[in-house]
Amino acid sequence: MAMATGTLTIDLNAVAANWRSLDSATSAQTAAVVKADGYGLGAAEMATTLARAGAQSFFVATAEEGALVRTALGPIPDIFVFSGHMAGDTAAIRDLKLTPLLNSIEQMTRHFEALQGYRFGIQLDTGMNRLGLEPAEWDAARSIILPQNPALVMSHLACADEPDHEMNAAQLKTFRAMTDGIDAPRSLAATGGILLGPAYHFDLTRPGVGLYGGLPFDAAQPVVSLSLPVIQIRTLHPGETVGYGGSWTAPHAARIATVSGGYADGLLRAIGNGGLLFHQGRPCAIAGRVSMDLIGVDVTHLPSAPEVLDILGPDQTIDDLAEAGGTIGYEILTSLGARYKRDYLEGAA
Ligand SMILES: *Cc1c(COP(=O)(O)O)cnc(C)c1O
Repeated sequence: MAMATGTLTIDLNAVAANWRSLDSATSAQTAAVVKADGYGLGAAEMATTLARAGAQSFFVATAEEGALVRTALGPIPDIFVFSGHMAGDTAAIRDLKLTPLLNSIEQMTRHFEALQGYRFGIQLDTGMNRLGLEPAEWDAARSIILPQNPALVMSHLACADEPDHEMNAAQLKTFRAMTDGIDAPRSLAATGGILLGPAYHFDLTRPGVGLYGGLPFDAAQPVVSLSLPVIQIRTLHPGETVGYGGSWTAPHAARIATVSGGYADGLLRAIGNGGLLFHQGRPCAIAGRVSMDLIGVDVTHLPSAPEVLDILGPDQTIDDLAEAGGTIGYEILTSLGARYKRDYLEGAA
């Protein structure tokens, strides 16, 4: 490959396998969250792969994302919109058969005035204080809402990636108090909630990050790998420095490979000095700061000049890289830039 663009390889079989494995962990229906361009991996490709694996319901953040997913999936699957029914969304919701998750009395009023009889769901706040009706609002509104047959009543857990966090049980208790006895299907669990056990599963689960190989689903198959081409290799004398600010100094004669990829591609600047790339399984440390488009890597110990170095793959997961950058796998995934060549692997499975 004689290009200066990194290659992001996305294993569609692994995405499908992760969906099936989270699906078999519950007796609920398993949906798929494909917001934020399918966690940075391509909303259309993720949605079609997950539909083929068996997902029948999809979740996006906004109506605009819903439009793209509707085009990819055709008319049948349910597409739920977390942000609900915003002013200006009415035509898209109607024409594309999106299901808004109404978050407030204001959104309910908007939806019932503009699209009476059209599908909707309800989002409840059980303690995260981000989206949804508060318990008192729900008490006041439920006798009006429930006869209109919401397609889903859902809430979201704030601390599901920490199984021992007391907030999980508290939110579960609040959710049950708000919804026990209703006829509408209920949903509380994302990836973390699935792993908390059956009490959290209800009728439908909404995994996102676990499908794409991220924690807290530690049994996930890895989905992404990212190889960066080496543009140039140079030899440094002891005492010479690398990159902006001269923050890495050669302790002895060193060979530095400059690879194509930088913080504009989602390789966070915080990963710099000490972060790792790999050559055929051998770790190679980043030398100096990550630039916008380039990273210097110490390859002194390699027996031959590498043509590419891997920053994501079997040797370094999205969560390993996240840890090196002081963040979470979700942010690494969704930051991966548009500049890579995306290779979708589709095997026989
Ligand atoms: C993003 C999101 C999900 C998916 O969460 P993961 O942790 O990625 O599985 C589910 N529900 C809501 C409300 C979300 O915002």
